[in-house]
Amino acid sequence: IPNNKIRETTLFIDFNALQHNYSYLKSKLQPNTKFLAVVKAFAYGNDAQAVAKKLQTLGVDYFAVAYTSEGVALRDAGITKPILVLHPQSVNFKTIIQHSLEPSLYSDFVLNEFIQVATQLNQSNYPIHLKFNTGLNRLGFNIENVTKIASILKTSNAVKTVSLFSHLAASEDLNEKAFTLSQINSFNNICSTFKNKTGYMPWRHICNTSGILNYPEAHFDMVRSGIGLYGFGNSTKENKHFLPIGTLKTLISQIHTLKPGESLGYNRGYIAQKTTKTATLPIGHADGIGRQHGHGKGYALINGKRAYIIGNVCMDMIMVDVTHIDCQEGDSVILFDKNYTAEDFGLTTETISYEVITNISKRIKRVFI
Ligand code: PLP
Repeated sequence: IPNNKIRETTLFIDFNALQHNYSYLKSKLQPNTKFLAVVKAFAYGNDAQAVAKKLQTLGVDYFAVAYTSEGVALRDAGITKPILVLHPQSVNFKTIIQHSLEPSLYSDFVLNEFIQVATQLNQSNYPIHLKFNTGLNRLGFNIENVTKIASILKTSNAVKTVSLFSHLAASEDLNEKAFTLSQINSFNNICSTFKNKTGYMPWRHICNTSGILNYPEAHFDMVRSGIGLYGFGNSTKENKHFLPIGTLKTLISQIHTLKPGESLGYNRGYIAQKTTKTATLPIGHADGIGRQHGHGKGYALINGKRAYIIGNVCMDMIMVDVTHIDCQEGDSVILFDKNYTAEDFGLTTETISYEVITNISKRIKRVFI
């Protein structure tokens, strides 16, 4: 990252770090285990198109997004690898097929709907993925549904089940090991029942990033990683293996000096007790700095020192206390980087790296380094 002063708020995205994280995760896999990169939510706030293009050149086998529109954006960017849409709505099934996206189907309703649309569009063996609930209780068929699914699948050759998958609820938490092992066990039962009823075994996958690290016995045919690629694990121990790919920097727009008793910002959210030097920064809640970071909770780094966010976070600005910092207008400000990470920034308000990075709004400039 250039050391010289920046001119506007910028999220720097380090492709070498991305490559490092990918290689680290790959090194944990058997050579023929496929790697699916989860690039939903703008690649966790980083820029899905650019990140997916880079990952495609690195050789990932599959991509996953949450919504159909995210998959269409990847196709528009020239992504040719298969793209799994984790949570499509039936209104988008035609778009899914038109863009060669692959739906995750999780209930009789969406399975039947998809078969109907695929049939109308004269598809045969269109790739689909069946999602099973093994304890997250969020989305997915249950084991009792397998017989019914098999009978539905037999009625049509419009679709072909490429994979069976499930999602772990607490793969990062080794105190929940028994629960995770029970999820893995249920998943195994589901897969063998599916094979009994249909006569074939699609690929199987269940591991997210923490699952890859903590449950090597459950890598099956493919793993799905998001947060690890972007540089975070779910514990200090896991974090050690990854390099955060994002650095968010801004600059000081203006410096004010408040006299004792003077207030700062909306609702007079901060009242100076003593002479206080403040810096106004061009980044606010519309850019991903949540309101909860105000009132002295969150901090930025200016010239190596902590500058706490004081008063209310505005839509496009925050104000930080720089009384103790030798700084001037135009100086660079770090919101997070490889040392003071997005996870550290989130911890100041008890949120997680996932939320901090996915919240960085699209209007912030991205620079790939
Ligand atoms: N698989 C599914 C179904 C997901 O929803 C997610 C992300 O939430 C992932 C995999 C990736 O998880 P992680 O970012 O923890 O690697």
